[in-house]
Amino acid sequence: MTLICPDYDDVYFSKESGFDETQHVFIRGNKLPESWADRPHTTIAEAGFGTGLNAYVTATLFEETRAPHQTLDFISFEKKLLSPENIKQALEPWEPRIGLMMHKFIAQAPLDIPGFQVINLTPHIRIILVLGDINDTIQHVSADVNFWYLDGFTPAKNPEMWSDTVFENIARLSHPGTSFATFTAAGFVKRGLETVGFNVQKDKGFGHKRDMMTGVYGPPSETRHEDTPPTARKAAIIGAGLAGATLYNRLHEHIPNLTVYEAGTTPASGASGNLLGMINPRLSAKPSPESTFYAQAYAQATQSLNMYQNTQGDIGYAQCGSLILQTDPDKKRRFSGYISELGWNKDHIHMTSAADASALAGITIEQECLYYPQGAVVSPRKVCTSYLDSAQVQFNTSIHAIQKHNGKWQLLSEAEDIIDEVDILVLANGLGCLPYAATEHLPLYPVRGQTSFAEPSEKSRTLKTNLCYSGTCTPPLAEGKHVLGASFIRYDDDTDLRDADHAGNMDMLSENFPAIGDIKTHENNGWAGIRTCSRDHAPVIGKIDDGLYISAAHGSHGIISSHLAADIISSEILGRACPCPPDVMQRISPARFKPKS
Ligand code: SAM
Repeated sequence: MTLICPDYDDVYFSKESGFDETQHVFIRGNKLPESWADRPHTTIAEAGFGTGLNAYVTATLFEETRAPHQTLDFISFEKKLLSPENIKQALEPWEPRIGLMMHKFIAQAPLDIPGFQVINLTPHIRIILVLGDINDTIQHVSADVNFWYLDGFTPAKNPEMWSDTVFENIARLSHPGTSFATFTAAGFVKRGLETVGFNVQKDKGFGHKRDMMTGVYGPPSETRHEDTPPTARKAAIIGAGLAGATLYNRLHEHIPNLTVYEAGTTPASGASGNLLGMINPRLSAKPSPESTFYAQAYAQATQSLNMYQNTQGDIGYAQCGSLILQTDPDKKRRFSGYISELGWNKDHIHMTSAADASALAGITIEQECLYYPQGAVVSPRKVCTSYLDSAQVQFNTSIHAIQKHNGKWQLLSEAEDIIDEVDILVLANGLGCLPYAATEHLPLYPVRGQTSFAEPSEKSRTLKTNLCYSGTCTPPLAEGKHVLGASFIRYDDDTDLRDADHAGNMDMLSENFPAIGDIKTHENNGWAGIRTCSRDHAPVIGKIDDGLYISAAHGSHGIISSHLAADIISSEILGRACPCPPDVMQRISPARFKPKS
């Protein structure tokens, strides 16, 4: 089916054959696959994601031709996200050739919210979708692009996309030897690309089109020095909770010599051991780097965990939606800020009346609510166990100190014996990193949190959504029980269950939702863990020193933030494109806290 965009009165791809057009214009125009043959990592950037046809054709070809260690990042800019139904329908003729990659994309289809979202198609191939007007978003991308696909609507109908700002940023993200291909031969596009440093030539266009253009940036490229492939390096992660398990999940296909060290006796034996946790974003009423980080983290986590549950194994994931009770004027102001300022599609966030909220929840709710339809629950404990299934985990192994020696990192026992020596070390052990000289300056502190597992009442048995107020209550999905959360006690690192915390969780629920009925919990029916928080409340994610990284301070949002942290750190270790804008990277960087001199 030929898909036409009414806003621009233009087609997404050639009426003759979109698949053949992609091959002719973008693949052969950039001399692929020969040109990626010697690169450990390839970055392609595309202006205009549309249906993703170019992305799936490229991903399919890459998977067929790549050497075992090679990786591909396909960064694509898009202003108006198409629905999975539209994509499937438009690409149906080529389903036998690109279906695998298209379905991987659709199974974790991005949410329609502005900004970056990473879609891992395979451990070696990912799409980084950047949603919004390219004139703005391209300025926030940092990447070393090898090949460009310039595929906006025709310049005559969409001149804004072929602007000087876009050309200047294409040049900023290119290096000598970077090539581009485009279906158009418009004069002002040719001049624009030449002005910023591309040598442009006209080639035979696809189908009935006379010309198209290709070109190379700057002087011919020198032979590029190959880095040591990551496969040859040795790495360790300290901590088998969410931060460590998500990193293992992202790294182990690339670095086979990867060991996880864990002081406890099982995965998730610390703060990640809760039976069931909620997946909600943590937003602010005005756009901020922190809000951008959590929006991206939420969108990616909810979609990728959904796919994992459907294809890889039970992690207790259920997309039940989350209702956030609007209890006071401050919340009303904040919620209307989220809706008016953050640019999310209403399919992902909207207000509901008390009556609609009651219908969604399956119990009576007396106030308006903010609703996240993709809000979800997942079992952090099962996520850790499942992600670490194939891992070499050294349990009962406390790392007391780390030290740099001849460019490598040594892990030391209490008796100062060297337990291991690695090229790359990731600290994912929360407060456990504070004794180390390299991280002792980080302002991290413990926050005790106790959840209560409650038997449903007659009325609450039908609860279908998450309820969030000053506390939280899940549907009865944890072995038939609700999980009520959670106490939040700073500087308390005791993990014994307390009656007072149970009572607090129960009271918060019954005060806000009297209709929930008489739910019950018992003394030992709950779980207490110690979350790590940072002084400025943002997580601490990134590089500390050469070969040393940290993923910590995930606070109460570890399920979502640990996944994005794993994408960020693994990108840096593997030399892949940065999946977040620079202001987000600065906000979460460990470098924002300086060691005392
Ligand atoms: N490459 C696509 C494919 O494989 O299906 C086809 C791209 S279609 C010709 C052009 C795309 O550019 C549309 O999806 C359109 O929404 C997008 N677009 C148009 N103006 C844009 C802008 N200013 N910023 C980002 N994307 C834009």
